Amino acid sequence: MQPNLYDLTLEELEALMDTWGEPTYRARQVWTWLYQHLATDVHEMTSLPKSLREHLEQETQLDAPTRLAHQTSLDGTTRKDLLELTDGERIEVVLMHYIDRHTACISSQVGCSLACEFCATGQMGFERNLSSGEIVAQVLHVARVLEAEGEQLTNVVLMGMGEPLLNYDNVMSAIQRLHDPDGFNMGQRRFTISTAGIVPGIRRFTDEETQINLSVSLHAATNALRRQLMPINQRYSLDDVLLAVQDYIETTNRRVTFEWVLIQEVNDTVQQAEALAARVKGMLVHVNLIPMNPTTVYDARPSHQERIEAFTEVLDRHHISYTMRLRRGIDIQAGCGQLRQREER
Ligand code: SAH
Repeated sequence: MQPNLYDLTLEELEALMDTWGEPTYRARQVWTWLYQHLATDVHEMTSLPKSLREHLEQETQLDAPTRLAHQTSLDGTTRKDLLELTDGERIEVVLMHYIDRHTACISSQVGCSLACEFCATGQMGFERNLSSGEIVAQVLHVARVLEAEGEQLTNVVLMGMGEPLLNYDNVMSAIQRLHDPDGFNMGQRRFTISTAGIVPGIRRFTDEETQINLSVSLHAATNALRRQLMPINQRYSLDDVLLAVQDYIETTNRRVTFEWVLIQEVNDTVQQAEALAARVKGMLVHVNLIPMNPTTVYDARPSHQERIEAFTEVLDRHHISYTMRLRRGIDIQAGCGQLRQREER
């Protein structure tokens, strides 16, 4: 199969140029076209000789995903693009505009094997891992959209479809490639990996001591409830997850975010809030509370305001640091756990 240029490291690109009898510096030129000029076609690479462009066209692929559709939320803050991959699989990327930043929410897998009860992706099952090039290409796609508006991408969160720590190598090499100062030059601390609590993945991530942010989807503070919402808890219990997170914090000195989707009368009780506070007290963590985005497959509602207040009152009392997140892009089904839902209906 022809290599996808987005799958290659600079060294691999150099090796390729070498096998073609091209000078090594050509690789760097291609690299600049890919990651600085955001080229989508080798014929845009006008600093290369025509013969090399033709060689690239014949021997490699430049698999920028095709945009099939896009939608913008009514308030204009959130945009969702439906992308088609070369094998016809479809993924969505979400772009969120904030006052001081532009964040891309991207996917690590097509579908997901974890089957979290409240998540639309979880309910559709696992299709395949994305290649590192497909992960890179999503970020570049969003960067192009922003560039056309005179803006720059500032943050990337792996909170779309899939479990990033179950596609560990491809996720990490994609981030590494986007991080290269001679290429896309996006700092590691601008990336956030979100995991449902894959303990071996968290431990491996800890050992690498990167600057990449870690977010852990907790959603419940007792094993009984967490097991019900997130089947992965049977494999990696709350205690194991929290231990791995504590070790991560001690090793890296970095703060971890816990995600907590508030589901009416399920995990928004005062008892759960108390259990959460007891478990995380003293840890260098921040809790992100998100009202659940309704999905077609899960018969539950987002928490009402007064229940949210009762929940956060407990956290306040225990001095747990938290943010109540706004829901975004609800009118275009661009919320977490909702991606790809509409076409499946
Ligand atoms: N598998 C990873 C990353 C993808 S999900 C993880 O579990 O963290 C990204 C975030 O969206 C997770 O915190 C997940 O729990 C949350 N999420 C899933 N479904 C949701 C829904 N219906 N409403 C709000 N958040 C949801």
